[in-house]
Formats: sequence, C-alpha cells, structure tokens
Amino acid sequence: MRPLHPLLLLLVLCALPALLPATTLAQAPTQPPAKNTAPSLTLEGDIPPSIAPIVGRMTTLFYECLPRLLARFENPQKPAPRNIRLRFERALKAPAMADRTSITVSIDWIEKHPEDIGLLTHELTHIIQAYPSPNPGWITEGIADYARLLYGPSSQPGWSLPSTLTPAQHYTNSYRVTARFLLWLESTQPGSVDKIHRRMQAGGFREEEFTALAGAPIDQLWQRCLAELQTAQPAR
Ligand SMILES: [Zn+2]
Repeated sequence: MRPLHPLLLLLVLCALPALLPATTLAQAPTQPPAKNTAPSLTLEGDIPPSIAPIVGRMTTLFYECLPRLLARFENPQKPAPRNIRLRFERALKAPAMADRTSITVSIDWIEKHPEDIGLLTHELTHIIQAYPSPNPGWITEGIADYARLLYGPSSQPGWSLPSTLTPAQHYTNSYRVTARFLLWLESTQPGSVDKIHRRMQAGGFREEEFTALAGAPIDQLWQRCLAELQTAQPAR
C-alpha cells in the first residue's frame, strides 16, 4: 500500500476526533472490548463444490448458535473471540478441531457425513470454554456435546445422546455419555452444569468439588444417574 502524502495524513488525523463518538474519546480504549464486536465467520481453504452447500448450512448455524453459546458459557472476565476462522482441510486426524480463534474441519469427514454440521457447535463451545486447562478432559468434551445437543441444529440425523446408560459405561467416557450424564445432572440439580463450567474456567478444578457444586460426590451422582437411565426415555 502507498504511504499517504504528509499533508493528507495531517488532514486525516485532524478529522479523526470529529468522526469518533465522544464516549470513545473519553474512555480512550486501546482496543474495543471483544463483547462489542459482532460475530463474524471467515472461510478459509479450498472449498470443493461437493461440500459447498454443507459449508452454507454451517455458516447459518454459526450465526444462530454463537450468540446462544456466548450468552450461557462466555467467561465474563475474559471475553471470547467473535471473529472466528473456519478452515477446511482434506485430511485431518479428527473430524474437526479448534484452537483459540479458529476451527478446522476435515473435508473427507464432512463429505461422508454431510449431516454432521453440529460438530461446529461442539468446536465453538471449546473456543468459548477457553479453560486454562482442558483437564479433566471428560468434562471439557462432555460439556461441548451437552452444548451441541442444546444449541446445535434442531435436527441432527446420525447424532444423538444415548437414551439409556449401562453399567459398562462411565461418566469419564467423555463426549455423548458424559453429556447424557450432565443433562441428567442439570435436570435433578438445576444450575450445576454452569457451576462446574465456571469452576473449569477459573482453573484448578478437582473432581472432589462435585459435592459442593452438584450436591453429592461424583460417583454417587453417577450411580443415581445409571439407576434412572437404565430405563430412560430418549434425551430429546
Ligand atoms: Zn471436543
């Protein structure tokens, strides 16, 4: 880009205060808080025609679910990014993955599973969780699938939480099994999932804290959940 002529630069600098609202000048923030930024999605990578309609549906889903995820899970002390990059790569080790501000989706996976756009809700939840430590991993992944159920597409063919649980399963199984446990926990102890989530955001969460956060030790809660969900109705 060509540098501005010095005289033009001076004019621009002089005109700048008139263009800014008074509050902006009074507060003089070096960077606008992320909370004031509207969500936006930037698509990256080569998008083959085979997945273009799926990418379109994922884009719509992004604008539908991000505000809802932010409303429930954002850390008030540390605003989550609103400008998310969505990249597509032919071969990935996982169907999708997230880092601090971007999500990468496997083209191979989404071509074979065109209905699996809810994976975007799962990955967006990870971005908003922003836990200082991902451990215990089963809570991190369980909450991401819990959020996918509640804030993902209203219809998710091929994806659902288990309607029943068996003693062969365990709350540490992660993903959908843990999400089913969390769904049960929230129905018996409303607000407990949010309390666990906030403690994860604060860092240093220990499983012993379940007693204080959800009313009983984790193993006891799981046994109660198992007893009820061995003959349960579907999650939705
Ligand atoms: Zn995950």
